[in-house]
Amino acid sequence: MKIWKVLSPGVLAEEEKPESIQTPTQAKVKVTRLLLSPAEVRVFDGSAGVAYPVVPGRFAVGVVSETGEGCLSVEKNTRVYIRDVAPCGRCEQCVTGRPENCTHLVAAGEGRDGALRDFLVADESVLSPLPPSVPDDKALFIGIVSMCEAVVDGLNAAKGMHIAVFGADAVGTLLCQLLIYRQAVPILIDADEELLKRAQGCGVYYTVKADEGLEEHVARITGGRMAAGSVYTSYCPVPPETAFATTAAGGTVVYTGLGFPPVSVPMKAAQDKRLTLTTISNDYSNCAAAINLLVNNAVDPAPLIAAHRPAAEIADALAEGAKLRKEGGRVPCTVIDLL
Ligand SMILES: [Zn+2]
Repeated sequence: MKIWKVLSPGVLAEEEKPESIQTPTQAKVKVTRLLLSPAEVRVFDGSAGVAYPVVPGRFAVGVVSETGEGCLSVEKNTRVYIRDVAPCGRCEQCVTGRPENCTHLVAAGEGRDGALRDFLVADESVLSPLPPSVPDDKALFIGIVSMCEAVVDGLNAAKGMHIAVFGADAVGTLLCQLLIYRQAVPILIDADEELLKRAQGCGVYYTVKADEGLEEHVARITGGRMAAGSVYTSYCPVPPETAFATTAAGGTVVYTGLGFPPVSVPMKAAQDKRLTLTTISNDYSNCAAAINLLVNNAVDPAPLIAAHRPAAEIADALAEGAKLRKEGGRVPCTVIDLL
């Protein structure tokens, strides 16, 4: 089996490694498509702070090619989403038989090896069969939609509620779509007008350019009440405490995203407004809900894909993403075709 491994920041190597089914509930999966998101580029360029060597690739889909005799939920040729986060197996919740409540979920491609390989052997519990109405390109976003679902839950987002969302990358845009589906009113904020324009094309009505007039602009949209909650997505080019200013007194601020750089916020500003601050970085429980949302077209990730590239261009795609990041650009989502 072919594996792509980041040996150290900026160094990608290809490796051949035999791997076969070891337990009755494992299955072998031909990885067909993989999402190269900004998170993979950060693993590659060294800014994600992961331990090396590591196989990148958090979000992937594939087709089961072989199953252990104990597999119940998958069979040969089942198309699956390879779940991006898994329980740690070591925390108190995990060892007492409640992995769904794991306190230290581990993301593929960061805390453990990811899916950037041609074949993968995994327990069937991390393989989610895909309905025919969810094509591969959409299925690649199941993990992000699942995380967004957890954010919406954390906000107690209700009908008509204004939510300020910082960052118009994939996470922020999908979150806005989900909030609209739940009849809340997202206000998407970013410094990049091109990304805001793309979000408008995805059905996000209120978009605001982050500048000096931001607070007044949000006040106008909310009739002076400000947003009931704000969500700050990681690596958004706006200071993280800006989310305090857009939130009404007593509101909630959620920090979320695929990994988080070391940031600090002035706590007094949050205390003065009695804000509740919380963080959500992944989700294990909403995978089936996320698939349902995609089946119902509640969210549409298709416009977020900038390009499709063959496996032969993996190294180029990562290097180009790293260069773009270095120049201060925003890395788009690319789909790698491994067939
Ligand atoms: Zn655990």
